[in-house]
Amino acid sequence: MSNNTPILEVRDLNVEFKVMDGIVKAVNGLSFKAYDQEIIGVVGESGSGKSQTMLAVMGLLANNAKVSGSVKFMGQELIGMPARELNKIRGDKIGMIFQDPMTSLNPYLKISSQMTEVLMLHKGLNYKDALNQSIQMLEHVKIPEAKNRINLYPHEFSGGMRQRVMIAMTLLTRPKMLIADEPTTALDVTVQAQILQLLKELRKEMGMTIIFITHDMGVVANLCDRVNVMYGGWLMETASILETFNNPMHPYTKALLSAIPSLDSEVDKLQTIPGEPPNLLNLPSGCPFQSRCDKVTEACKSSIPLNKINPRHVVKCTLYGNK
Ligand code: ADP
Ligand code: MG
Repeated sequence: MSNNTPILEVRDLNVEFKVMDGIVKAVNGLSFKAYDQEIIGVVGESGSGKSQTMLAVMGLLANNAKVSGSVKFMGQELIGMPARELNKIRGDKIGMIFQDPMTSLNPYLKISSQMTEVLMLHKGLNYKDALNQSIQMLEHVKIPEAKNRINLYPHEFSGGMRQRVMIAMTLLTRPKMLIADEPTTALDVTVQAQILQLLKELRKEMGMTIIFITHDMGVVANLCDRVNVMYGGWLMETASILETFNNPMHPYTKALLSAIPSLDSEVDKLQTIPGEPPNLLNLPSGCPFQSRCDKVTEACKSSIPLNKINPRHVVKCTLYGNK
C-alpha cells in the first residue's frame, strides 16, 4: 500500500436512531480519511456524534441504529460485512480503548489469563509463548515489574496503570488502527500526559494509525497530527494541527479554541460557548450551528457548503463561498 492510500476512508456516513419521539440524526454525511501512522483527533461537545461515528466504523452500533454510507478499512468495505468477518478484523487489525478500562477487562480474571487468551485465540500461540508476549507488551506500555504484576487482578492496579493494561491488551494483536474514545478523560493531568506520550511512542514503534476522540482541545494540541471538529453529528472542519490552531476557519472551531483554559485563568472562568447544543431529533435545515453562531447570515438557514481550502483542509460554512 502506498503512502497515499488511506488506512481508513469514511464516505458520506449517516447514523440514525429510531426512538419513540422520532429519528435521532446522530451522524450526518460524514467523510474523512486517515492515513498510515497518522493521529487524528476527533473533537466536539458531548453529544456531537464522536462515539457513534467510531462505533459505526467498528460495526458496534445499538440495535435501533440505521447506518448508511461507506467505511473502507485497508481497502475493504466494512459496512454490510458479515458479522463473522467483521469480528475477525475488529479483534485483530482494529483495536479500541475506552474511558473506563473495566469495559474491556474482566474483574474476576487475572490479567495473565485475559491477555494470554487473546493471543491463544487470535494468534494460535501456546500458553507459555502467549504469557511471554503478554509480559513483553506490559513492559512496552511501561508497567513496572510486569513479570509479577501480570498475576494481579484489574482492581489491584491504579487508574492510570489499569488504562495501560487495557492498552497493552488491545495492542497484543498489533492492530493497524487504534480507536481511542476519551481514554484519558477520567485520569488526572499528570497521568493523562504520560498516557498521551505513550500513545505517541507506540504509534511509531508499532506503525499504527490512531483516532483519538476527546472533548479537550488541549489534548488534541499535545497529541494529534490532524483534527476533525464535529458539531450536531456533522464534520464542520478538518485540518492539520497547525492549520487548526493558526488558521481555524469555522466559527465553531474558533469558539472551541477560545474555550481552552489558559494556565493563569481560574477554572470557573472557563469560557463556554453560549447557547444549547442542537436537538438531533429536529435538526434545522442548513447549518446545525446557526443558532449559536456569531457570524450567522440568512444563507446559513438553507445551506451548509463544503469548501476545500487545500487538499487537507476542508470547512463547512457559508462564510467561505459556495463551491
Ligand atoms: P459524543 O460526541 O458525546 O460521543 P455520541 O456519538 O455518543 O456523542 O452520541 C450522539 C447522539 O446520539 C447523542 O445525542 C446520543 O444521545 C444519541 N444516541 C446514541 N446512542 C443512541 C441510541 N441507541 N438511541 C438513540 N439515540 C442515541
Ligand atoms: Mg462519546
